[in-house]
Amino acid sequence: MNEDDVRALLRDVEDPALGDNIVSLGLVNDFDVDGDTVTISLALGAPYSPAETDIAARVREVLSDAGLEADLTAAIPDRAGKDVLPGVKNVVAVASGKGGVGKSTVAVNLAAGLADRGARVGLFDADIYGPNVPRMVDADDHPQATENETIVPPEKYGMKLMSMAFMIGEDDPVIWRGPMVHKVLTQLIEDVEWGHLDYLVVDLPPGTGDTQLTLLQTVPLTGAVVVTTPQDVAVDDARKGLRMFGRHDTTVLGIVENMGTFVCPDCGGNHDIFGSGGGEQFADDNELPFLGSIPLDPSVRTGSDEGQPVVLDDDNQTGESFREFAAETADMLGLVNRRSVSR
Ligand code: ADP
Repeated sequence: MNEDDVRALLRDVEDPALGDNIVSLGLVNDFDVDGDTVTISLALGAPYSPAETDIAARVREVLSDAGLEADLTAAIPDRAGKDVLPGVKNVVAVASGKGGVGKSTVAVNLAAGLADRGARVGLFDADIYGPNVPRMVDADDHPQATENETIVPPEKYGMKLMSMAFMIGEDDPVIWRGPMVHKVLTQLIEDVEWGHLDYLVVDLPPGTGDTQLTLLQTVPLTGAVVVTTPQDVAVDDARKGLRMFGRHDTTVLGIVENMGTFVCPDCGGNHDIFGSGGGEQFADDNELPFLGSIPLDPSVRTGSDEGQPVVLDDDNQTGESFREFAAETADMLGLVNRRSVSR
């Protein structure tokens, strides 16, 4: 087999989301044929996402059908030069137009869900005015300072964690001016030893103020997830969130609806208290992907209170909604990456 033969084989591998084969799309960075082994680098950037796992499996399959063994690596080429968070493949912000919609809950379950799929994950609680992520995962360790004044984040459920709560405690209200916020957030991003991560999930403060803008300017975001509730859509808060990203050319990966259907612990029934389909309709109206709907379910709150994200409970139906949402979000991140390099 020579290079042309291998290239022809790879033309049989489709990227279903982009609607063409990986060779024509330019998703094969390079490859090398050595006897029966093909060393191949693919432009895939969302590890453990269902879509990219399938593409990689198809590559192995077409090569193995031809009696070849695949030695796969994956990298998005033009990411190499970025100087903020160089070891982080994807930075995903979780945002909402206002507080109380379950933004932190969604961020924690997204991060834990991605880690549970096998990915290397960091969770950065940037909600400086109400940092509650450490409690939601019952983080027992604190960050450690190193000799060269960097910070080693503690880990829980396979995630590296960083939060203002580690620095100031959860109950101290922080009243800072813009430059201070900027400085602290920049430090928490740049001085923390995040290492190599597939995904860094950032829990943004609620709303659309200065802190959010600082973060959007400081961190190389791959994209943002906007959390909404059915009521929120009705009162226009979700739109404000979207407008903020629009002004900053931030890719919105999609909308996730939280507290959609009420799962009644007593009767076991599902009730659409605030009507149904609001989040999906909102996504449609804005031509954005709908990433899923999370029920209003008391086990979400008890899970958070006990420090056990419900996404990690295999037997919990709402946990399954979070797992599907995490998978969908990973797929969207992958799509953003592949679109950025494809022709
Ligand atoms: P935000 O970050 O938007 O302010 P939180 O994530 O802190 O919101 O959630 C607010 C409250 O709602 C918390 O007590 C949380 O446990 C609860 N909560 C969030 N999502 C759900 C859900 N799907 N079902 C039940 N309770 C939820």
